[in-house]
Amino acid sequence: MTLVLENPTARVKWLAAPSSVSWLEQANGLPELVLIDHAHCERKAAGVALQLMFRYPSDEGLGALLSPLAREELEHFELVLGLLQRRGMALRPLPAPVYGASLTAAVRKGEPERMLDSFLVAGLIEARSHERMALLAAHSPDPELRALYGELLASEARHFGLYWCLCEERFGREATVARLEELAAVEVEALSGELANPDAVRMHSVGVVLR
Ligand code: FE
Repeated sequence: MTLVLENPTARVKWLAAPSSVSWLEQANGLPELVLIDHAHCERKAAGVALQLMFRYPSDEGLGALLSPLAREELEHFELVLGLLQRRGMALRPLPAPVYGASLTAAVRKGEPERMLDSFLVAGLIEARSHERMALLAAHSPDPELRALYGELLASEARHFGLYWCLCEERFGREATVARLEELAAVEVEALSGELANPDAVRMHSVGVVLR
């Protein structure tokens, strides 16, 4: 299988390394598993947005951006859930890859560092989702999945842009870029290595090209 991964929509400045062809092949090998995981990702992304609003309840600017974000993530969840149901598939629980936990572990405990790190981690997850959805939108053998991922792409790009804005407004560009570089390295580390078995493929399972 020869693939060109330099899809322009997949090139995102947040990410320190691009996803590998192996990840794409593994994902295309078990598309329904990735779809179930994707539904969980949208549900969790809505949860993260709400969690941040609850953690900083008096920050109006934060609420103004995160409330519509949470709603949009839930709309995506419903969209994916609808497709699962049409295909007679249950939203069964899946063991999550270590990805999320590795990133959360890198969030510093004290404020305001915790806020910056939380925004950057949320943005990195969105950026990786966007990059991988762009690959699936271009290369999934299933036309319905290509259409679904294609439809979600534009909003995913807005999502990491939004987290970028929250960081820049509050912490300035220089501090944001410096910390982003560190966390982007953690993100790539979390995606490094070989997949243990095909059933472990997820939207955020291992598979990056290290330079
Ligand atoms: Fe999103």
